[in-house]
Amino acid sequence: MLSVRDLETRFVTRRGVVYAANGVSFDVGDGEIVGIVGESGSGKSVTISSVLGLIRPPGAVVGGSAMFDGTDLLKLPGRALRHIRGARIGFIAQNPFGALNPILNIEAQFANVTRAHGRADRATIRQNALEMLKRVGIAGPERVLDGYAHELSGGMAQRVVIALALLLNPSLVVADEPTTALDVTVQRQILDLIAGLIREGRRSMLIVTHDLGVVAQYCDRVVVMYSGRVVEEGPVATVFTRPLHPYTLALLRAVPRRGEPIQALGGRVPDLLSKPVGCAFRHRCAFAKPRCESETPEIRPVASTNPLGRTVACHLDVEREVPALAAG
Ligand code: SF4
Repeated sequence: MLSVRDLETRFVTRRGVVYAANGVSFDVGDGEIVGIVGESGSGKSVTISSVLGLIRPPGAVVGGSAMFDGTDLLKLPGRALRHIRGARIGFIAQNPFGALNPILNIEAQFANVTRAHGRADRATIRQNALEMLKRVGIAGPERVLDGYAHELSGGMAQRVVIALALLLNPSLVVADEPTTALDVTVQRQILDLIAGLIREGRRSMLIVTHDLGVVAQYCDRVVVMYSGRVVEEGPVATVFTRPLHPYTLALLRAVPRRGEPIQALGGRVPDLLSKPVGCAFRHRCAFAKPRCESETPEIRPVASTNPLGRTVACHLDVEREVPALAAG
């Protein structure tokens, strides 16, 4: 469905060049839900913005490819990419009030999405919009259609955004921290709704989140990012039960568990203002070796877990050393 290879994205700032995505590669298969995780500044959101053509100057995608159903999204002119985005790829943004137009009523926003990709009369647009709003669990959809974004709660507004994202029946949905801006009481409802609609429609989804619990509950595969690179990738069930990259291990240990002390990950994500030399995680890694200072680890398949398709970027013999070091 989506195959991203060697994605490179830079931002030119007054302080220098920010190396935001550095050779990012991953796949999203048919009917798969893939989660991208990592701390703030790891390059998660930049990665999906790059794939969707949403990077604006002073940022630019300077290398790589993003093949979607045989088309390289990174090579498409703006108009063609806008056509795919919306019709074949739906996007759910973090902040629903930023995604909705405050001066158009909700019906007009359904009309805009529909007419950007084809023709339809007003009655058909309204009927389709009402059906979509019902599918995302909105009671009183007529009232919502005639109203404005500021009249909605955060959860209702995100339901409207989800309805707009799925309106044209896309085969892939990309979601950027879709519940971060919402009240905790509605976060799970919204995630259940999104995952249900994805599975029911046999769509694929790429979801960015910093919440490992979300990945554990909803995703098939996980891509762990650090400092603009993928450091580990594989099926959620095996990555979370047997992490092979020291950063994945540290992230999992930092998840609060009842009755256990939190093992917080010390240090900070490095400044991306210089091209990383060596392993970017080395200053926080409990297992770093002299080699980690000077050689950037390439991402490579883990021999014994293929064809499960796990890949890890670390100089250690990860299958042997990481579990032993973790246990010790
Ligand atoms: Fe740690 Fe070195 Fe592996 Fe980086 S390459 S995660 S510093 S052991």
